[in-house]
Amino acid sequence: MTVNGLFPENIDWTQEALDFLVNLYPLKQEKDLARIRNASTSLMCRHAHALAATLVQLEDEVTARVMYTTDTTIPGFLPVAEVVALIEGEVIRVCSQADFTFPVGEKNVVIPVRAGAFSGMLVLSYRQDFLMDAGFFRFLENTWTGLKDITMLVQTYYAFEQLTTRFNAIMGTIEASIVFVDDSGKEGWVNAAAAKLLQLEVNRNSAMALADAMRKLRMAAHNQDEIAAVGATLFTHPNQTVKEWKWIFGNPVTRVLNVSCVPATSANINGRLWVFTDITQLYLTNIELAAQRKLADEQNIAKSDFLANMSHEIRTPMNGVIGMTSLLANTPLSEEQRDYVETIRISGESLLSIINDILDFSKIESGKMELEHRAFRISTVIEETYDLLSVKANEKELDLLYYIEPNVPIEIMGDVTRFRQILVNLVSNGLKFTEKGEVLVTAETVHAADGYYTLKFTVKDTGIGIPADKMHKLFDSFSQVDSSTTRKYGGTGLGLAICQKLVALMDGNITVESEYGHGSAFIFTIRVQANTQAIHYNARKKEAAVRLAGKSILILDDNSTNLKILSRQCEWWGMHAVAVQHYEAAFEQLAQTRFDIAMIDMMMPGKDGIEVGTIINETNPYLPLVLFSSAGYLPSDRNIGDIFKAVLNKPIKHNQIEDALLTVLGQYAQTAEVTGLPATAPVKEAMSLNILVAEDDEINQKLIKRALEKLGYAHDIVGNGKLAVACVNSKPYHLVFMDVMMPEMDGYEATRLITEQLGGKRPVIIGLTANALAGDKEKVLAGGMDDYLSKPYKIQDIKNIIVKWESKMQQNDNG
Ligand code: ADP
Repeated sequence: MTVNGLFPENIDWTQEALDFLVNLYPLKQEKDLARIRNASTSLMCRHAHALAATLVQLEDEVTARVMYTTDTTIPGFLPVAEVVALIEGEVIRVCSQADFTFPVGEKNVVIPVRAGAFSGMLVLSYRQDFLMDAGFFRFLENTWTGLKDITMLVQTYYAFEQLTTRFNAIMGTIEASIVFVDDSGKEGWVNAAAAKLLQLEVNRNSAMALADAMRKLRMAAHNQDEIAAVGATLFTHPNQTVKEWKWIFGNPVTRVLNVSCVPATSANINGRLWVFTDITQLYLTNIELAAQRKLADEQNIAKSDFLANMSHEIRTPMNGVIGMTSLLANTPLSEEQRDYVETIRISGESLLSIINDILDFSKIESGKMELEHRAFRISTVIEETYDLLSVKANEKELDLLYYIEPNVPIEIMGDVTRFRQILVNLVSNGLKFTEKGEVLVTAETVHAADGYYTLKFTVKDTGIGIPADKMHKLFDSFSQVDSSTTRKYGGTGLGLAICQKLVALMDGNITVESEYGHGSAFIFTIRVQANTQAIHYNARKKEAAVRLAGKSILILDDNSTNLKILSRQCEWWGMHAVAVQHYEAAFEQLAQTRFDIAMIDMMMPGKDGIEVGTIINETNPYLPLVLFSSAGYLPSDRNIGDIFKAVLNKPIKHNQIEDALLTVLGQYAQTAEVTGLPATAPVKEAMSLNILVAEDDEINQKLIKRALEKLGYAHDIVGNGKLAVACVNSKPYHLVFMDVMMPEMDGYEATRLITEQLGGKRPVIIGLTANALAGDKEKVLAGGMDDYLSKPYKIQDIKNIIVKWESKMQQNDNG
């Protein structure tokens, strides 16, 4: 007989080990994890004949918890460091109280237990004189495996229970109805919400009951045919996933379920997960929103249409106002009257420009803006824009500069008018909000593939800038940074909104960068095709490069941006460029180096271009000089021709520099091909013409009458299409201006009759239209007219269109 922890008298350790294992295995049937743990620890204590057995778990770096002990005097926690040291290496140790401060027993046996996530030890406590012989250690070895086994089981039970608890908590809480169907067809599982939806038991149901419940639900749906169609694909393709599948009940809708069905498979389990979410509220709200959006879109289009139409209607009488004013200005007037007339003209034109803005804006809004697709040259558009705005730039002594990277195609396909409109808007804003410095336009290719180029344009000024918190509003219609801006700078706040819309039509976007007080940069991109007919910018530059290569040039300008651009341009031609910002630096350079040519800016602080040129001429009489000047700013009393070989007007055009350099350097004779036609082509003597005007509006009649008189053409005027047809049949006319909208017979019908009656001998017919909406031009041309003029038109427009058709009229005359 032995007493636990006392001196063992002939203990049969093999029998004890067997008894321990035999008693341990029934414990596995237990469901209560704590009981398994406690009972196995007690069992070990008994069969090991120990004073006490204690199970310790290492929970984390700071906690070693006593999970169970047969001796209640043992504290709940043990020193972690000691526990860690004891279980290291996973060997059974016998510790005296000197190396392990355990409160019971003079001798303690530590059995490390690691299984799954469990890490800890079982401590058996004995008296000092307990005999630990070979049989005892065999007992420990034999029972150790059983201990680990049971701990592993406890861990697995625990993990499973944890998972089940979480799973049930989630499934019981979420609103969605969840169904899991086993592919073996044996079982189905539903959560509480699904049980309610399908009128089943929570959790397990027979597959048959589940299938039946799902079928009933499907058959109750209003769109059951649609559901059946999707369902069919699901059963033929078992791995398919279906999402956003709407099951709609009731008509009108009372309930909408959003159904997802996904395969749920693992190595051992095959099944499908169904999720039913009630989205009735969302569905109804979306229907309502879609209806509201449609209504709003329709109202928006109607509003834009109204604005567009109204703007036209205003443009027609404005035509009369502006036209008559320009005629009036050409009559003898007193100083006071001239002043009044000029005020009317300026007010009229600014009103017209506002109306044009509104018209453009509403045309784009209502989707009526169609873009042309024709080749144009980017540099030309920039130069035209600068020409248009040069008066303003000169007034404020601002430089207008541009630089086009060589990777930009020389000509692109697109709508030149709209592209110019964007540039004019941005550059004129730049000029408007800048008091000193420059406006610079740069162009570069940022992406090119499959014949398409994404071009980036930057319009950068050195003006007042835009506060950061105002930038996001800039592109909104009618928005200005500061409401006092309207009074100070003018404008409607529509310009940028129009630019943004036009840029979007060109597949691009527009952004702004600015530092308040230090200027702004408007950056826009467009996506275009290059005109493959045109030589590449590169190729053209190469031509000049051959002739200019190796020459050295001195450039003097106080504007550093301009210096940079000019140097880059000259270097591109292979020239050696030295750029200086001050005349003293120029003189120094000239004293040291021999140059082939020098370019000098007119307006500089200290000494102007002419003074500097005069000095250089005295010291370097053989150095050819070129002057940049602003039109109208050259003093007439100084003999510029003696000092400079060429004078270039600002804004500086790169082609002109190239021509000037080539000419001055004497290696290249100027030809029409390079310079383009002279701006003032000799005007041919006006042909003597008979013109018929068919126009019902009295003011417009007067206007065109005076214009034709001024241009010196004989003409007759009639008030409707019927009279026009009668006239051309009774008298030969070269040209008919045909208003398209007239009472009794409109311009289209009259044109049709005239063409029918006179065939090839009919006069040239120019349609007069007040509409500038997309499709008008096509309508006029399709109606058989030769060309069109849209109102309001100026004398120059009438003149241009007559000149355009002169040769055709001459042919008619001869034929
Ligand atoms: P507006 O006809 O008033 O010029 P925009 O749409 O062209 O209309 O410009 C809107 C506002 O954006 C301007 O009133 C001005 O406050 C600001 N803005 C536009 N361009 C610039 C610029 N280059 N520098 C500073 N502010 C600018």
